[in-house]
Amino acid sequence: MSDTRYVFVTGGVASSLGKGIISASLAKLLQSRGYSVTIQKLDPYLNVDPGTLNPYEHGECYVTEDGAETDLDLGHYERFLNVPTSQANNVTTGRIYQNVINKERKGDYLGKTVQIIPHITDEIKRNIKLLGTKHKFDVVITEIGGTVGDIESLPYIEAVRQMKWELGHRAIVVHLTLVPFLSASGELKTKPTQHSVKQLLETGVQPDVLVLRTEKELSNDIRKKVALFCNVDRKSVIQSIDVKTIYQVPVKMQEEGLDETVLEKLHLPAGEKPALKDWKGFLNKLEKATKTVTIGLVGKYVELADAYKSIIEALIHAATYNDRKVKIELIHSEELTPENVANKLKGLDGVLVAPGFGHRGIDGKLVAVKHVRENNIPFLGICLGMQCAVIEYARNVLKLDDANSREMDHTSKNPVIDLMEDQKNVTDMGGTMRLGAYDCELQKSTNSYKAYNMVTVKERHRHRYEFNNEYLEAYEKAGMKAAGCNPDTGLVEIMEIPKHKWFVGVQFHPEYSSTVLKPHPIFMAFIKAAINE
Ligand code: GLN
Repeated sequence: MSDTRYVFVTGGVASSLGKGIISASLAKLLQSRGYSVTIQKLDPYLNVDPGTLNPYEHGECYVTEDGAETDLDLGHYERFLNVPTSQANNVTTGRIYQNVINKERKGDYLGKTVQIIPHITDEIKRNIKLLGTKHKFDVVITEIGGTVGDIESLPYIEAVRQMKWELGHRAIVVHLTLVPFLSASGELKTKPTQHSVKQLLETGVQPDVLVLRTEKELSNDIRKKVALFCNVDRKSVIQSIDVKTIYQVPVKMQEEGLDETVLEKLHLPAGEKPALKDWKGFLNKLEKATKTVTIGLVGKYVELADAYKSIIEALIHAATYNDRKVKIELIHSEELTPENVANKLKGLDGVLVAPGFGHRGIDGKLVAVKHVRENNIPFLGICLGMQCAVIEYARNVLKLDDANSREMDHTSKNPVIDLMEDQKNVTDMGGTMRLGAYDCELQKSTNSYKAYNMVTVKERHRHRYEFNNEYLEAYEKAGMKAAGCNPDTGLVEIMEIPKHKWFVGVQFHPEYSSTVLKPHPIFMAFIKAAINE
């Protein structure tokens, strides 16, 4: 039997307290002590995965190497741990029910009434344990989405209760709450924490560690009070004070001894306190940078920065390693016109045109591409951003006025971006795009090759449309070059304009694989070009 330990992270009082960041920080600290750790997110909604969700609903959809469309918290996990996640790391209620119902139809439960307990809870437990038994991690940290007390999280909390009972010291619960500061009375209030722990206790779960989000330092008295009312020892009341950047959280958690407390509860040796040298090196650079690089991010979901989470983080990583602070200007593509573009993009050192789906906001993206192309401003186009670069070039350089993507106009006589062959018979929307990591072979003497400094790279995809190779010759003659292609299918993955200062459009999503300790080469090169020194 595997000896894997399970840490459940639950949340109370309010949503958006940062369970994902606390989970990722704890994982980072345990990893630094030599443990193999992974983090899993259980999402209590009925979609089978977030792939079909509008970014306004749920922020970015993060794609793993194995092609799973997942919650954006998995992006934090990878950025902190530098270890790839997979489909097993994100499970929704929709998937749990789908599995149970499929089994029922197959006859696996023949004769039995299929119920939430034990069948749904058993399926939840099976999915949690899979990472321990199949993937053999020392520690699996499972973040339960939502807030305790939500009707939809109840089966998950029940599964946690059962696992704690079955596994004893091998399963613990870290509960994250908020200690609000009331400015009128100048006081920090612990009552919401007490109530939220009571709510957990009603479901039969005693939290082992409490992490308290707060904007002010918590006194020893407050901590003692929380410990007393919530049946935990004083050491297990951990303060999580607001910090300037999420990347400081692991350091703060180490100062608070979160990792040592957790290891002690799990009966695992703590060993030496890790120095977190590389991590602190990154933080140091982040703090010390004085010069700024300003990047325009052109997209249609800019009201919600979570929609572009990985892109924003990848820009921060690359700027930091280039000794710059990055100022990201979010530019709404629907507001860009040929008349105002020069003004709206004024002062930008580089422009990134974002991924996306559907027609809304396309015209503004094309206007932005034309402006940066003609004015020699460094450009990075990602997925739909690359497709826009291709369409813009066709219309304004190849003089194919009606050139378009078949996604936007299926009657276009010049579909320079076309539906991929194997997408033509696809009718279901969920999980059917070209997803996950594929090889890309780079042409030497291109900016992409210079960025990676290797010939074959692997990058993650999420799209149905692709560059139409029938036009490749015309493009190359006119000065836009295929810098990278898939070696098996010949699909064009990167388009570049060699004569431009730095103009790179990538069909894949480099932002998904940029991490704190390993900034992405394409973002590094883009920022370098934007710095202009
Ligand atoms: N909508 C485009 C496609 O499906 C681009 C997708 C994206 O930007 N992720 O090909």
